Amino acid sequence: MSLLTVSGLTKRFGGVVANRDISFTVRPGELVGVIGPNGAGKSTLFDVITGFARPDSGTVHVDGHDVTRLRPDQICRLGVARTFQKLRPFHGMTTLENVMIGAFGRTNDVNAARRAAWEALERVGLGDRADAHARGLSTGQRKRLELARALATGPRLLLLDEVTGGVDPGAIPGLIALVRELHARGLALVVIEHNMGVIMDIAQRVVALQLGEVIADAPPADIMRDQRVIDAYLGEAWRV
Ligand code: ADP
Ligand code: MG
Repeated sequence: MSLLTVSGLTKRFGGVVANRDISFTVRPGELVGVIGPNGAGKSTLFDVITGFARPDSGTVHVDGHDVTRLRPDQICRLGVARTFQKLRPFHGMTTLENVMIGAFGRTNDVNAARRAAWEALERVGLGDRADAHARGLSTGQRKRLELARALATGPRLLLLDEVTGGVDPGAIPGLIALVRELHARGLALVVIEHNMGVIMDIAQRVVALQLGEVIADAPPADIMRDQRVIDAYLGEAWRV
């Protein structure tokens, strides 16, 4: 029984085919990595799954529900949350208020939203920054804020778009430990991640994209040996 089922997704932007006939599944509690060079279509895939972009063809099912034509807020209410590659905190608001916005996805009650936001902030280790303005946070802390906002929606499936991207190297192990802990507590995750060490460490399965297509879907150890993945991505990544 799969939690997320992506079938034959194709998404075009004019002449660019950002996603071409993409199919894969995620089981409850699974942690799936998504890799691929820049422009491979990883972020677009998240946009289509979460309703921020409409596919040209194909379907997305969450727990058996067809969500392909639903809005982001409706998909969120079915238990799918995401973070964005490009951070989008509301700078004029406090950390707590930013996270409350996520909580309002599942409740209209301000006090309940505040409680859910506090709980999410504690889970990501930002409780002590609740009253700070988002603009005063470091990149690592903003990533945690994004995570908290997504968690406050009460997800069963969390999609993370480059959670370690652009973060000070010293802050990366803490973020990875946090992702691992969320997974250990039963959350299913799909993580776009460029650091292959991290992918090898945390992913149970890896979906590799190139030019909008799935070129491999396998456990990390097999991905590392896959000639198409090495040619498309790893060769370049490991040479650095
Ligand atoms: P990745 O996240 O793997 O780096 P993206 O999904 O961001 O890749 O982009 C895949 C392709 O789709 C790229 O060629 C990109 O330029 C194009 N693309 C993404 N979003 C848009 C958009 N809103 N309008 C036009 N082209 C887009
Ligand atoms: Mg991207």
